[in-house]
Amino acid sequence: MPFRADPWLHVIAGCMSSGKTDELLRLLRRAEIARRRVLLVRPAIDNRTPGEFAESRSKARYPSVLVNREEPSGILALARERDADLVGVEEAQFFDDQLVDVVLALRDSGRHVIASGLNLDFAGRPFGPMPLLMAHADQVTTLSAICVVCGDVATRTQRLVGGRPAAVDDPLVVIGGYDHGAMETYEARCLRHHEVAAPHGVTMVPGLGTGEVPSSPGVGVERSQAG
Ligand SMILES: [Zn+2]
Repeated sequence: MPFRADPWLHVIAGCMSSGKTDELLRLLRRAEIARRRVLLVRPAIDNRTPGEFAESRSKARYPSVLVNREEPSGILALARERDADLVGVEEAQFFDDQLVDVVLALRDSGRHVIASGLNLDFAGRPFGPMPLLMAHADQVTTLSAICVVCGDVATRTQRLVGGRPAAVDDPLVVIGGYDHGAMETYEARCLRHHEVAAPHGVTMVPGLGTGEVPSSPGVGVERSQAG
């Protein structure tokens, strides 16, 4: 598809390891070739790579600006300052819901916006502002990964704490910290192999599926800035 200069919102959604960042960076590079001024932002919570760069699993890198996840309005100011034609938003799911208004304002101002993020959290719940962004989008790309258990198509993000499926009320673990050896990891899984453990304090909940998981606001694939 040729680069679109008109106002446009493209959302790239998918689970862990589905290549969302690679796809986002690929589109940003194309925009550069078209001599568009590109701004890439991501929430300050993401500590996987140094602040100045967004990095994909295939080690592709792109300069980025960290924005406070609770103040996504900072993106508007940055876009104006840099006179950006195209604004990329990585890890959009971690931003406050205000991101939706910010993105719509960017599009209303004639800009092209490409937002990538996890559409579902580890418990299979729509994640942060992603569902609304997808609803408002002019274009949605949904990417899938490969289930690490069976090799089928994966659309879910499995959270493991200490190697076991996490429960919705499992405490957040500081990456790089030493919390009783309870290392927290995430991997791609298909629907059949996606597991959410029963909440703590509940001995057994047969057939606990994502639909029966109690909602607890703010719980998600969290990372701490520490470490
Ligand atoms: Zn599987």
